[in-house]
Amino acid sequence: MDIRLTNTQTRKKEVFRPIDPDNVRMYVCGPTVYDRAHLGNARPAIVFDVLFRLLRHVYGPGHVTYVRNFTDVDDKINARASDSGRPISEITAETTQWYLDDMAAVGVMEPTHMPRATAFIAQMIAMIDGLVASGHAYAAEGHVLFRVRSYRDYGALSGRSVDDMIAGARVEVAPYKEDPMDFVLWKPSSDDLPGWDSPWGRGRPGWHIECSAMAYELLGASFDIHGGGNDLMFPHHENEIAQSCCAHPEGGFANVWLHNEMLQVEGKKMSKSLGNFFTVHDLLEQGIPGEVIRFVMLSTHYRKPMDWTADKAREAEATLRKWRTLTKGIEPSSSVPASVVEPLADDLNTAGAIAALHVLAGQGDAAGLKAGAVLMGLLSPELGAWAEVGVDLTVFANRLAAVRTEAMQSKDFSELDRLKASLTAAGVEVRMSRAGVDLVPGAGFDAAKLETLR
Ligand SMILES: [Zn+2]
Repeated sequence: MDIRLTNTQTRKKEVFRPIDPDNVRMYVCGPTVYDRAHLGNARPAIVFDVLFRLLRHVYGPGHVTYVRNFTDVDDKINARASDSGRPISEITAETTQWYLDDMAAVGVMEPTHMPRATAFIAQMIAMIDGLVASGHAYAAEGHVLFRVRSYRDYGALSGRSVDDMIAGARVEVAPYKEDPMDFVLWKPSSDDLPGWDSPWGRGRPGWHIECSAMAYELLGASFDIHGGGNDLMFPHHENEIAQSCCAHPEGGFANVWLHNEMLQVEGKKMSKSLGNFFTVHDLLEQGIPGEVIRFVMLSTHYRKPMDWTADKAREAEATLRKWRTLTKGIEPSSSVPASVVEPLADDLNTAGAIAALHVLAGQGDAAGLKAGAVLMGLLSPELGAWAEVGVDLTVFANRLAAVRTEAMQSKDFSELDRLKASLTAAGVEVRMSRAGVDLVPGAGFDAAKLETLR
């Protein structure tokens, strides 16, 4: 099975050929741990989780190494600590756990490695030291800066020249920089800030170097896939490439670059000032199941802007409830239907794969539906608690059966019809046969409306 991916670097959809099919290697930029993950942060985590699952499906679960980092040294973290009067370590530990909990709630598998930047400071210092020795970086006033003009291919990923980038970017001009485009690899720390001893004095790393150092340590000088949101393409990913290719000219860093588009809410950019800013945790607290969040995210191709709407969430919930009912107690088929794998292998066309799941559901192929959904991280038992809670329909089934018995004797069916209509209005599918009464939550199931019938 060939997987095809759109490589940002070449701007083409290419057949994916891993360097070593026995160890397919992927790196994705992870969160800076100072606050709850907002909904937009969940998109790359979910998108690359589906790719991780697809790679495991194609190459075998033991043959894929996925690294996603935690940035636990950053000025935003320092600011949060000084504002709240809490120690940095407490904030990063708490926020890291929040992230893991929230991502688990939306069905994201844990990557193979989740390195924390602060555990790789020695490796970053070694890499910076090498860049200084080879003339790609220079020390000045306690800082170390990367000499952007020393790397000829700078800007190739986003397809821009250095001069264009200077014109468009908010580059920080500083007296210790040779060139405004040069970026910080290391910066000095005052005594109240986290710092490590280095050849350039006590300081801390810039953000970009950490991904380069951790990717090299865990995946080598060349690996297969590097992913992230397209907001990271410049300067973060350009800087990663420049540092890594200059520090390790024997390697090519990442062969394939994948970028997911951004997320909007009800057609607008998510922002605190518009009042449409929310975290994954906010949605979960509002009672939107993590599985529904995942489904909505996957209903749009990763290279298109994703619009989160309340309508989509409602539709997704009804669909998942129907599919969960259809597949209850059913074992997934031993092979995943080709109709689901093929769109996924075609540049991660999750929307196409979901369309295929709808077809399987329509055909009543519950085993195929379950196998396809599980490959996408849906209909798993771990994500299913929401569909069980509050949907014990036994009491209504018993009442309906009793009313029916009465109606058969009295030949007055008005009460039976009234109860059936009320249940249907609450989104319950009513099936009555000689054998008994069977109630299942259907599309549009409304637990609150059902409560009023108690
Ligand atoms: Zn990164």
